[in-house]
Amino acid sequence: MMPFLDLKAQYVSIKDELDAAVLKVLASGAYVLGDEVAAFEDEFAAYCGVKHAIAVNTGTSALHLALLAAGVGPGCEVITVPFTFVASVSAISYTGARPVFVDIDPVTFTMDPAAIQAAITPRTKAILPVHLYGQMAEMDAIMEIAERHGLPVIEDACQAHGAEYRGRRAGSVGLSGCFSFYPGKNLGACGEGGMVVTSDDEQMRQIRMLRDWGQERRYHHVLKGFNYRMDGIQGAVLRVKLRYLEDWTEARRRHARHYSRLLSTSPSVIKPAELPDRRHVYHIYAVRTGDRDGLQHRLIAAGIPTGLHYPIPVHLQKAHADLGHRAGDFPESEAAARQVLSLPIYPEMNAEQVEWVAAAIDGVAYAA
Ligand SMILES: *Cc1c(COP(=O)(O)O)cnc(C)c1O
Repeated sequence: MMPFLDLKAQYVSIKDELDAAVLKVLASGAYVLGDEVAAFEDEFAAYCGVKHAIAVNTGTSALHLALLAAGVGPGCEVITVPFTFVASVSAISYTGARPVFVDIDPVTFTMDPAAIQAAITPRTKAILPVHLYGQMAEMDAIMEIAERHGLPVIEDACQAHGAEYRGRRAGSVGLSGCFSFYPGKNLGACGEGGMVVTSDDEQMRQIRMLRDWGQERRYHHVLKGFNYRMDGIQGAVLRVKLRYLEDWTEARRRHARHYSRLLSTSPSVIKPAELPDRRHVYHIYAVRTGDRDGLQHRLIAAGIPTGLHYPIPVHLQKAHADLGHRAGDFPESEAAARQVLSLPIYPEMNAEQVEWVAAAIDGVAYAA
């Protein structure tokens, strides 16, 4: 059985550097925030092409604080997509605002800009597109409508470290961008982690305070803040890994190109689309198939694990039933949830493994 992703292989490949980085933090006593986290913030801001980065404990916290700093709160509405990981929507709920969904574009699986206008009301306070699977949403069209209505855009870039749209990096286009360093993400900590990036000085100031109990200085709490700080060990680990991220991303892109070449005439699946104006970083390589369960079972029988990202769109999740949606409300999201299947992809896999997966797929007929 091949793995779906292999975190231990990545550790082994840079073990000496990671071990040394962790031991240095253990010896330093700087276990929460500290110099390693501050240095990682500077390096990650430079990587994204923004002025500031604020390290937090999870990607969900990053979204929560970016929304709060943008002025989102009770009585507000935030426009996002239902075809995403639930955290994009939960973060909106944390603020007391109401998530308002728009459907996705079926080719890119990201927010359909043409659907935004109809979702805007006097209560709309922000737009939160998700760069799903590692490909950025249609940002020019989203920014155009946002600017016309004076709405801030917060990018959920939790799957899109280093992705680009017309030469601009994920997180650098909207007012702020939010990243996750959950271990399985393209840049993963040895535990939890997250980051907000922004080039806006006031957003930076507020988010810095909010992550650390709303303190302006010690024991002077000017905002009702949170304990969302990043661990020192995670900062040190992520600094080491950031130096390899471009190589790892290029390896992912190589595997994706190989898959897409092999599957381009597949009778069983439709390969994912990489738009020519974007750099897709392939956090997920998801194909579409009309016989998803059948294909998944056949691949399992061939020793190939797969993933479902995501089988139930958020508007049909029990936890969000209070929003009052039903099946049929967002047909493209619902179709994607029925048809997508994620194939193994990670930097350390090899070309033979890609070929093995592609060959196993094409024993199966496509029945849309
Ligand atoms: C992983 C993820 C999050 C949440 O990040 P955590 O670090 O797990 O809190 C949010 N949005 C998307 C799209 C994600 O993939």
